[in-house]
Amino acid sequence: MADATPAASPLRRHMIDDMTLRNLSPATQRSYLHAVAKFSRYFDRSPDRLGPEDVRAFQVYLVSRGISWPALNQTVCALRFFCGVTLNRAEIPERTAYARAPGKLPTIPSADEVVHFLEAVPSLKERAALTTAHAAGLRASEAVSLKVADIFRRHGPAYVQAHDGHLGRVERRVMSATELCRTAALGGHVEGCRACGAVRVACNSCRNRHCPKCQSAVARDWLEARATDLLPVPYFHVVFTLPARIAPTFARQAHEHSPPCSNPLATSPIYTHPKNAGTTSRLPDMSQVSLETLYRVSSQ
Ligand SMILES: [Zn+2]
Repeated sequence: MADATPAASPLRRHMIDDMTLRNLSPATQRSYLHAVAKFSRYFDRSPDRLGPEDVRAFQVYLVSRGISWPALNQTVCALRFFCGVTLNRAEIPERTAYARAPGKLPTIPSADEVVHFLEAVPSLKERAALTTAHAAGLRASEAVSLKVADIFRRHGPAYVQAHDGHLGRVERRVMSATELCRTAALGGHVEGCRACGAVRVACNSCRNRHCPKCQSAVARDWLEARATDLLPVPYFHVVFTLPARIAPTFARQAHEHSPPCSNPLATSPIYTHPKNAGTTSRLPDMSQVSLETLYRVSSQ
């Protein structure tokens, strides 16, 4: 809310009310009031006693002082609002022109700079998103609302045609399920809230285990559950290669002793869960994940 102190003049109060009625933002209101006050001070008269020639003279004065074009146009906006709305003198805005702001060319990085930038993004997922946004020329708002299903619908048929010999039945089924997930093609159901009675009709999901829409919540829950198993100490992902002489021994013992799971993150609670504190982890277990092992390393 702009200045609404009791000391505000009736004219200022009137302008504030006009801006509030039109839901102008507090920042815009402050900017408009500042511009009109500056206009009034320049002529040392109440702004309601100034006419279109005075507005023009004020514009010439501002330009001579080197005001930026955006700032000049902001002042013009304020004076047009004050004269046209608060004073109800439509002839002044009609004669008060905006300045044409010089266009600016955006800075376009070279192909090498783009590659260098994308290679510096550590996360594969984020790199894929940024690469897609750059390749398609997407705005930030368009990039964040882009879904895998959108890409499959638009470019899936051409991709399938180009890679016909390399795509199996499973891959094609995943693409199809992702495209159809939560669309009318899979039918719908009615969801209701017993507490408030609200109901809504929702499209059915595909339930494919590779569908990003269906599995995002599952993946989030799984990660949160794993996080509760971790101790509040730093963790390091260590990758190493065993000497060829002992690698077969590790591989055999890992197969015999490790739990039936090949996911490195899923095995980490074995070493970190409080109930295992004090026990000695068997080294063969660590080789289970194809020599990629998640170690817990104390900060001590
Ligand atoms: Zn789905």
